[in-house]
Amino acid sequence: MSSMTFAPRASAGVVRGSSRPSASRQTPTARLAAFNGVVSDRVSCIHGNVMFQAPALKGLRAAARPALRASRNATRQVTRAEDKLNVADLGKSDLEGKRVLVRADLNVPLDKDQNITDDTRIRAAIPTLKYLVENGAKILLTSHLGRPKNGPEDKFRLTPVVPRLSELLGTKVEKVDDCIGPEVEAAVGKLQNGQVLVLENVRFYKEETANDVEFAKKLAANADVFVNDAFGTAHRAHASTEGVTRYLRPSAAGLLLKKELDYLDGAISNPKRPFVAIVGGSKVSSKIDVIKTLLEKADKVIIVGGMVFTFDKARGYGVGSSLVEDDKVDLAKELLQSAGDKIILPTDVIIADKFAEDAKTDTVQTGDVPDGWMGLDIGPDSVKLIQDTLADAQTVLWNGPAGVFEMEAFSKGTFAIAQTLADITKKGAITIVGGGDSVAAVEQANLGDQISHISTGGGASLELIEGKTLPGVAALDNQKVHA
Ligand code: AMP
Repeated sequence: MSSMTFAPRASAGVVRGSSRPSASRQTPTARLAAFNGVVSDRVSCIHGNVMFQAPALKGLRAAARPALRASRNATRQVTRAEDKLNVADLGKSDLEGKRVLVRADLNVPLDKDQNITDDTRIRAAIPTLKYLVENGAKILLTSHLGRPKNGPEDKFRLTPVVPRLSELLGTKVEKVDDCIGPEVEAAVGKLQNGQVLVLENVRFYKEETANDVEFAKKLAANADVFVNDAFGTAHRAHASTEGVTRYLRPSAAGLLLKKELDYLDGAISNPKRPFVAIVGGSKVSSKIDVIKTLLEKADKVIIVGGMVFTFDKARGYGVGSSLVEDDKVDLAKELLQSAGDKIILPTDVIIADKFAEDAKTDTVQTGDVPDGWMGLDIGPDSVKLIQDTLADAQTVLWNGPAGVFEMEAFSKGTFAIAQTLADITKKGAITIVGGGDSVAAVEQANLGDQISHISTGGGASLELIEGKTLPGVAALDNQKVHA
């Protein structure tokens, strides 16, 4: 494995996490439902300019469960960026005049008049497209957008992204209103080398998410080569992410996809140490595999957010009416016993007499939450503890807010973490933010460009950290296959 250097910060788009809604965009009712344990969406992210240490998985602590670790390492072998063929490995002789199907994530937010309100996903797709344009490929570009239920719906067409793509690429981009069939075939037949043709939203066909073989064949029928640059959907085996790889050779990773894998896999497999992870959010249950993996890989794991109270209950502390997952208390107890002082928990807590912006609030020591009150943020002592813990950290991975940051009264802990990450990034630490809500907090604080890396893939980044195979990556050619 060689050391990995990344493109300059300027080329790295900061892209909002997965297609799932972040809590900051949820209605108060949805947030309350989340609080009550009904919902817990996960998302995550990355960007920046970093070098990870190279040597393989050395210096890891003996795993509590060797079999589990062995299977994780095996998994990682098929999702590691450096094992996979990358579009930059393909030169002019591989690409000139070739029809290249690019699966990107152009799932941009649109207002009611179909104006793009955040173009970062389009910008993030540009480096791969430019590379292909410069190498004379004929580019068929597709993506999903929104959640069409039953065939084509105008509001989910990819049409609004075309002018912005043309602008960013500095060349006129064409579009067809389908992604398979004769209309596409005819338009592809007219493509000149270096031209880009946007195909319609792949999710207008239900066969896309079903990874239907015939549909994948039809998608592949108009192309020679496949490039997957959509990290956000890489954890899904869909026709346009996994299915088409059976019919197109080579099938390579795009530049954005590679960067995501480099950062995430770099951080967890081979971090510059001390490596500190911060895991927050509402519930232990949705992050348990991430916590377990990070306890193996990181030097310290700081737990914040609603999940703290399940740990506090496991310690026999008073948690009042804070969010607790009773069926996870024993698990929390086990983790505390096996991890020892590797787990860091908040020492004080902002409490409220109701789950509302205008609640009465107070600050108490951990364990002193009175009956009828709930903990909704970490307190100032905890912020100080986190700052001290991060002071000499060389790699920090953060996923999940420290409190109910959607409400101003309970947002201080989360914003303090965002600011601390920005501060240590300036001093040379590698900081990675994953988790839609932590990303939302970083963006709200205008600190996006002061973090090393913000991921484009929510579910995908969590699954990667957990050690799971990402089908959209595993299906790509290994480098040696193409060599
Ligand atoms: P997750 O989707 O698991 O990352 O959780 C994010 C959600 O956790 C956000 O909507 C936060 O409002 C919520 N959250 C954070 N801290 C708390 C807390 N102490 N009590 C209840 N919910 C919380």
